Amino acid sequence: MRIAIGQLWQETNTFNPLPTTRADFEQFGVLRGPDLVERMADTNEPGGFIQSLRSWPEKPEIVGLVRLPAWPSGAATHETFLWLRQEMIEALSRALPVDAVLLALHGAMVAEGAPDVEGEVLHAVRQLIGPAIPLVATLDLHANVTRKMVESADALVLFHTAPHIDVFETGQRGAAVLRRILIDGVRPVAAFQKLPMVVPAERANTQEPASVSHGFRLRLQEMEANSHILAAGLATVQPWLDIPELGSAVVIVADDAEMARSACSQFAAGVWERRRDYLPQLVPVAEAVRQAHGITDGLVVLSDSADSTTSGAPGDSTHVLRELLKYDWPRPALVTLVAPEAVQEARRRGVGAEMTTALGGVRDRRFSQPITMTGQVAGLFDARFVLSGHLARNLPIDMGPSAVLRHGNVCVVVTSRTGPHFAPELFRAAGFDPFAASVLVAKSPCGFRAAYQQRAKQILLVKAPGCAPSDFWTYDYRNIPRPLWPWDEIAPWQPNPECSPAMAH
Ligand SMILES: [Zn+2]
Repeated sequence: MRIAIGQLWQETNTFNPLPTTRADFEQFGVLRGPDLVERMADTNEPGGFIQSLRSWPEKPEIVGLVRLPAWPSGAATHETFLWLRQEMIEALSRALPVDAVLLALHGAMVAEGAPDVEGEVLHAVRQLIGPAIPLVATLDLHANVTRKMVESADALVLFHTAPHIDVFETGQRGAAVLRRILIDGVRPVAAFQKLPMVVPAERANTQEPASVSHGFRLRLQEMEANSHILAAGLATVQPWLDIPELGSAVVIVADDAEMARSACSQFAAGVWERRRDYLPQLVPVAEAVRQAHGITDGLVVLSDSADSTTSGAPGDSTHVLRELLKYDWPRPALVTLVAPEAVQEARRRGVGAEMTTALGGVRDRRFSQPITMTGQVAGLFDARFVLSGHLARNLPIDMGPSAVLRHGNVCVVVTSRTGPHFAPELFRAAGFDPFAASVLVAKSPCGFRAAYQQRAKQILLVKAPGCAPSDFWTYDYRNIPRPLWPWDEIAPWQPNPECSPAMAH
């Protein structure tokens, strides 16, 4: 028995003006064939696939297709989309015949001329393998699930958690669903309901009992405990996608059409009912920094969600930095910035040198402006570490040559490339104990809580302009479907799930 596995991972933010290119994928680390199976065996969804498949008594042969990952950023160029699809299809063509395909996808990737990249890839895979070969895909909780995805795959298996701490486990769940189809002979039916709503990520913390998402996660997991339901997922979508099919979705995969439809309908109605509970309380940036300065013992985490590099923002907003520079801080005030030019200058000058440089406001010029800072080159380092927690388990990250620029106790951690600009591992690589800082700016709306919720004295959600704002509906969207909440008030609304027929296995 031969089972092919592959991965395409990028989350797109269409407000980010920086296009994602083939070079971004190659830099992050494309893996082909046996290298994929060897190098991904203990990390993220492919690791979950691999370890599960290896535990099957049938001992299937695991055939590595290709892993195509890039960090969240702007829409991919059209050539990049064509290349990605071709890479996956050519790898699969070479691997045939296979008995099944397992793909780890994000689900919110957009390219120029292709607003549903994963739908296109799944469709191309289905065309190649035909209806008889099972195809199971995993998706991020922020996927923009489309009809094309649902119709192309036998089953879509979504993360249940935000912060995303079940990435590896979602891979295991995907393999378990495949097993039900391939070994047990189950013929799955998917009920799919698009909801005319998009919600901010800040309060969607599935691990916090007070959050609306917590109850939804428990309910989804309870559904999956029913042997008739293979996968139950809620995708609350990445909001910063100006595309025609934008919207949240519920996908229930079961062995019985009526059960799938009724579970999907009921769950979707419940989510719609609670949509207002997702709206967060934001603190204007100047006020948030002022409040942080008033807290002298313990760590204050400022979530600059509008510049979240985990949400595909460029990571060079200066709004919070500008405010931090107005105060004296008793301990380090840590803020990150993607600024390769500043890193190069710091490296030329060397550790200990004073430098005056323009920082930020370059990768995105619409929402923030550069600021001139005089400071000392306090450190040079390579931002290379292994990420575990939100988004990853044992995932190698390399954000390139980096530097620390210091003005008083304001320490700007400047990296050459974007990446997890919230991770404790990044601050440690820069020489800091993040939990001993006065303030730490996390460029993440919710995922950062996996690391900081228990240890921060205070967490404040900052309201500042940027490419990944929490109040996204006040920004200019031109292509989204209307009416869509919270752009529009819609009442009443009733779910009416579509059921995709079972594939002819
Ligand atoms: Zn996500």
